[in-house]
Amino acid sequence: MSRVCILWALSTLFEPTVTTPSPPLDLEQAAQRIRARIQPVQRVEQATLLDALGRVLAEPLHSPIDLPPFDNSAMDGYAVCTPVEQDVKGSQFRRIGVSAAGHPFTGSIRPGECVRIFTGAATPAGTQRILLQEDCDAQGDTVVVSGTPEPRSNIRSRGNDLTAGSLLDPAGVRVNAFRVGRYAASGIDKLTVFARPTVGVFSTGDELAPIGTPAQALPPGSIYESNRHALMALMAGLPVIVEDLGSLPDDPAAIRSALVNAARRCDVIVTSGGVSVGDHDHVKAVVESLGSLDFWRLNLKPGKPLAFGRLNDALFFGLPGNPVSTIITWLLIAQPAVLALCGAQVEPPARLHARLTCQVRHSPGRTEYQRGRYDVAAQSDGLAVDICGDQASNRLSSFDGANCLVEIPADAGDLPTGSRVQILPLHAL
Ligand code: AMP
Ligand code: MG
Repeated sequence: MSRVCILWALSTLFEPTVTTPSPPLDLEQAAQRIRARIQPVQRVEQATLLDALGRVLAEPLHSPIDLPPFDNSAMDGYAVCTPVEQDVKGSQFRRIGVSAAGHPFTGSIRPGECVRIFTGAATPAGTQRILLQEDCDAQGDTVVVSGTPEPRSNIRSRGNDLTAGSLLDPAGVRVNAFRVGRYAASGIDKLTVFARPTVGVFSTGDELAPIGTPAQALPPGSIYESNRHALMALMAGLPVIVEDLGSLPDDPAAIRSALVNAARRCDVIVTSGGVSVGDHDHVKAVVESLGSLDFWRLNLKPGKPLAFGRLNDALFFGLPGNPVSTIITWLLIAQPAVLALCGAQVEPPARLHARLTCQVRHSPGRTEYQRGRYDVAAQSDGLAVDICGDQASNRLSSFDGANCLVEIPADAGDLPTGSRVQILPLHAL
């Protein structure tokens, strides 16, 4: 054996065992790993329609009635029993009664007769069409068709919106205002929804001072704590109970005891900061010692360090500390996971195509989400999107005026003005 080989063999004997860190995950890989570990809440509750706003249906909802429940008039006018296709211009009808909304006419209509009728009123038996009042002249009880009525019945027939027993929504949808309207129209006043999981929110960092501290009283090197407030605001519309667990120092013992306590009463724990590789980043190590860490790095910009794991039965999301990274990783990773835990059917974020109105610098490697503002293009071949200034992850100003995230694929280099990109509207996240 040559000397080189012997030296190599010896060196491998004494090489320390190094565990290779798992490679950073793509957004989709991370989402799948998280989803595989989520057991949606099972507990259900009854809620009134308005209390159910934003919450998740726990069972399919069917309409108990036909909608509309009876044939009714779409217009103000005169109900007649003449067929729609018959030309009635110049015809005369004898008015035999009135049908108003909530006050139906109980008789029936025969040839040569009409019933004064208003929008939403039940059509009397025999009605074939409603003549618009604009097409008619009434003199006492005689109604003459003076206009040229369109060949339309103007009747909203029973069940033309939906029929009794039809599915209003499957389990897993989130109740929104339109759904509240639809359910109420079917007479539904209470919904069976999933119980709201509890989400505890911490910030971490010795440099963080509470908002409200007078600027001149800020200790040297301090900044105001913003992530926890932004996170709680982002959670405000979700079907969760948010627990503000305050701010933690960069002290492993303090972090440890706070997390142990939180894991006893929360279904999800969200922290910001302290998950990177600095000497003062203790959160990851504490979670690893108390529970388990599934992954802690993403192929994402901003938001490379993101720790996901478990503490007892609680899901743990350790979001990065830079304020923009905190918000983006919450929106793209943690929020969909929390919604899945709430029992919601989570769809991938809505993406639209747009053309860049400026150049974007990007080095291949990580998928990047820049803050942008889209609008209808001046030349109108779709949407145009501009980037909202400097995109450094500490600059919350990059959200100023932003209405979307501009997705820059991991393998892309610099993108010239006019490039086609995909955007994620912020309102849909
Ligand atoms: P870290 O991830 O803890 O290294 O923090 C990264 C950067 O984000 C640092 O500049 C921190 O000062 C800042 N930061 C961390 N947490 C917060 C917070 N809750 N509010 C505002 N800035 C923060
Ligand atoms: Mg920190």
